[in-house]
Amino acid sequence: MKILFAASEAQPLVKTGGLADVVGALPRALAALGHDVKVLLPAYPGVLDRLRTRTMHSNLTDLFGGPAKVEAGRTDTGLDVLAIDAPHLYAKQSAHPYGPSASVDWEDNHLRFAALGWVASAIGRGTAGAWVPDIVHAHDWQAGLAPAYLALAEEMRPRTIITVHNLAFQGLFDRKHLAKLRLPESAFAVEGVEFHGQIGFLKAALHYADHITTVSPTYAREIQTPEFGAGLDGLLRHRSGQLDGILNGIDRDEWNPERDRYLPAMYGAHSLAKKAHNKAVLQEALGLAVEPRAPLFCVISRLSHQKGLDLLLTALPALRAAGAQLAVLGSGDAELTVGFSAAAKAAPTRVAFRSGWDESLSHRFQGGSDFIVVPSRFEPCGLTQLCGLRYGTVPVVARVGGLADTVIDANEAALADGVATGFQFAPQSTDALQNALLRAVAVYARSDAWLQMQGRAMSRNFGWERSALRYVALYEGLLARR
Ligand code: ADP
Repeated sequence: MKILFAASEAQPLVKTGGLADVVGALPRALAALGHDVKVLLPAYPGVLDRLRTRTMHSNLTDLFGGPAKVEAGRTDTGLDVLAIDAPHLYAKQSAHPYGPSASVDWEDNHLRFAALGWVASAIGRGTAGAWVPDIVHAHDWQAGLAPAYLALAEEMRPRTIITVHNLAFQGLFDRKHLAKLRLPESAFAVEGVEFHGQIGFLKAALHYADHITTVSPTYAREIQTPEFGAGLDGLLRHRSGQLDGILNGIDRDEWNPERDRYLPAMYGAHSLAKKAHNKAVLQEALGLAVEPRAPLFCVISRLSHQKGLDLLLTALPALRAAGAQLAVLGSGDAELTVGFSAAAKAAPTRVAFRSGWDESLSHRFQGGSDFIVVPSRFEPCGLTQLCGLRYGTVPVVARVGGLADTVIDANEAALADGVATGFQFAPQSTDALQNALLRAVAVYARSDAWLQMQGRAMSRNFGWERSALRYVALYEGLLARR
C-alpha cells in the first residue's frame, strides 16, 4: 500500500511532544512490513538541510498566497519525507513550529496548516506529483483539513484517517477565514467544519475522515464522554463505529538503554549496576545528594494543567519525608515553573528542576532515575511511561487513557503473581497520588520485590510492531470497502 502521513511534527526533524515520536516511528514500522509510506511535513527552517538524497517531488503555483515546492528526502533515521517548501508560510525563524515561543501562536497558523491539509489532498488526488497514495493518514488538528478537502472534492480519492493525539488541541479559527481556506460556504455547518460558530480543523477531520483513531483503547472510550470529550463527545459517539484506539509504541532504536549514547553507562536488565552508576552521575550533575538508596523520582513533561503536576507539587512534602528525591525536566506554565523552581531552591539536595527542552537530559533522566511520575488529568497514550518501562524506571501514573492501558498496578494480587510493572492512582487527587508514591517507596525498600518489578517492567515490549499491524489491518479494511 502507498500511505501518506500528514503531520506538523516528526522526529528527528521537529518535535514538541509525543506526536513527533509517533510520526517519526510508525511509518518506519509500516515500511518494515513492506508498505510505501511518506510523511508530508512543513519545511520549517532547517528541515530541508537535514534531509538526505533530496529530489523535487512537485510544484504548486499558489499555496495560500505564494508558490510552493514539495521536496522528497530521507532522514538519517530512514524516514521518507515530503517537505513543503513554502517560505511565505514556514520560513519564520523560531525554535517552535507553532509560534515565536511555545506559548504564543503565529497569526497565520490557519493558513500554515490549511496548506498542510491542502497539499496532502493534492497529492492524494494525484494533482501534485506522480506518487499517489491509497491512504491519507492525517494527524491532529494541524492536518485536519486534509480529509475535509478530499471529501469535498468529490473525486476518486484515497481513503482517509484522522488520528487524534490530543483532543484538547482543536485548531479553532474565525469563520471569516472560510473562503481564504478554500472551504465552500456549505461546509460551514454542523455536518461540516463548523464548531460552535468557528472553523474547527479537528472537528472537520472527525466529520469528514473515513475513519478515526486515537492512541489508546481507554482514551478512545473516554473521549466519547462529556468529561473527556472536549465538546466533541457527541460527534465521537455518533462515529463510534468508525473509531478505534490503537496504542502507541516507542522507537526501540531511539529508546534502548543498551545502546543509548546519551547515557554515561549503557545497561540492560542483567546489568542494572550500570543503571546505579547513571543514577549517581545524574544526582551529582543535578546537585542532588548522591545517595544510592534514596528513591529518585523523575518527571519529563510539558508543564501544563493536563499533566497534573500541580498535584505532585502538593504531594512533594510527603515524598520528601519518605526520603525520596525528585528531578523535574519540563517547560510550559509559568505557575508550575515557579512552583518547581521554589521547591528546588528550598531543598537543592532533594529536589532538582531543569526548565526547557533537553533531549539528552530526557534520556539521562530515564537512564538514571528509579521512577517516572505521570499524574495526568487525561493522557491519550503517554510515551514517557513506555520509555520508563524499557529503562527499568518504574512508572507511577494516573489511571487514565493510555497510562491505564500500559502500566500494571502493584496491587497485592499483581505483586503476589509477579506481574506488576508500576503504580496507578485514581481518582485525580493529591491524596491518591501521594498514596501511590508512598506505595512505590515501600516496594523500593524491599529489594526482592523491587528487582522483580523492575525486571518485569523491562521485559514489556512496547515496540511498534503490534500496533503497525493493526494500522495495516485498518487500511486494508478501508480499501476493501472502496
Ligand atoms: P505529550 O505529547 O502530551 O507532550 P507524551 O508523553 O506523549 O506527551 O510525549 C512527550 C515526549 O516529549 C516524550 O518523548 C518526552 O520524552 C518528550 N519531552 C517532554 N518534555 C521534554 C523536555 N522538556 N525535554 C526533552 N524531551 C521532552
